[in-house]
Amino acid sequence: MTEKLFDNGLLFEFDAMVISCTEAKKGFEIILDRTAFFPEGGGQAADTGVIGSANVSDVQEKNDTVIHYADKAVEAGSSVHCMIDRDKRFRRMQEHTGEHILTGVIHNRFGYNNVGFHLGDQGVRLDLDGVLSKAELRKCELEANKVIARNVRVIVSYPDEKALEALDYRSKTEIAGKVRIVTIEDCDVCACCAPHVPDTGSVGMIKVISSEKYKGGTRIYIVCGLDALDDYNRRLDDIYEVSHLISAKPEKTSDAVAALLNENNAYKYRINEIERTRAAQIISSLKNESRGSFCIFTENMNVNILRSIANEGVKLTDRAFGVFSEKDGGFSYIIVSSGIGLREKSKEINSVLDGRGGGSDLMIQGSVSADKARIEEYFASL
Ligand SMILES: [Zn+2]
Repeated sequence: MTEKLFDNGLLFEFDAMVISCTEAKKGFEIILDRTAFFPEGGGQAADTGVIGSANVSDVQEKNDTVIHYADKAVEAGSSVHCMIDRDKRFRRMQEHTGEHILTGVIHNRFGYNNVGFHLGDQGVRLDLDGVLSKAELRKCELEANKVIARNVRVIVSYPDEKALEALDYRSKTEIAGKVRIVTIEDCDVCACCAPHVPDTGSVGMIKVISSEKYKGGTRIYIVCGLDALDDYNRRLDDIYEVSHLISAKPEKTSDAVAALLNENNAYKYRINEIERTRAAQIISSLKNESRGSFCIFTENMNVNILRSIANEGVKLTDRAFGVFSEKDGGFSYIIVSSGIGLREKSKEINSVLDGRGGGSDLMIQGSVSADKARIEEYFASL
């Protein structure tokens, strides 16, 4: 059984004795007499860091023993100096404590419970067993940030059975043995084994990024503390980039993008009109005296227009008609048949004309990289 030191979330360095070190599939499994490394559990990823000169990439707990997965061996029986990746751990404590505060506020206001929790490197995902509107969530977010501003203590305790029974706390179910209670004054009481910051001020801020309906409740994504600052900077960089690209003030980007989209739709409509006119001209000029297979060539036409040309052209043949539209050095095509099964032929077309595509006996579509002369030669024999 490993003595656990992560009650004190701010213990980032400690000395320990190596109980054992065994070679595993990947690297080494190290067991210490005591550890401040938090093992993966309850939706939170494991701490990383170093034991002596060995890098610890994962930590797991099995039957009260904490196993550190490292890239190097350390000598059993020796004393080692251990360091937890301080920045990562601190950010996770900010995230985790922030989650307690927000869930506590929501629980007090609406009575909902947290029924799902994940804390990785990109903030916290939490699932509530009740529905919250965006406006309600905004209010809770503000209240949670006021709990941060009040800078109240985050207290860890292990009440005895009697005291526990009398206590009203979240996650009251299925915890056997000693229960660790994390209390945030005037905000939240919750059973939890993970490390937290010692006061709410250390969380810095709680920001709800998004929320959605999930399994009859609400799934919420939040970022807290230094991760929230990084997130803010990323979003700001993005807005400035967009603002620069579309020459609009940062606070006016959505109006400017909406105007651009309108303009773009008008262009699309205009292009479509032009393509339809071109298609009508092509259709009126179609000729095929031989009634055999034939094809025509055009360029940069969308597939719907190609199809309308193909459906007219096929009336002039008792074999097959293809329309090829040049694009990026190759051709996209639609071939329509009035007398031959195209599904079988498509393999031959792919191979002879160096292309890809398929479809039904009546119509196939795809692209080829063969040149115009090769395509015409093939159609003469089709
Ligand atoms: Zn917790």
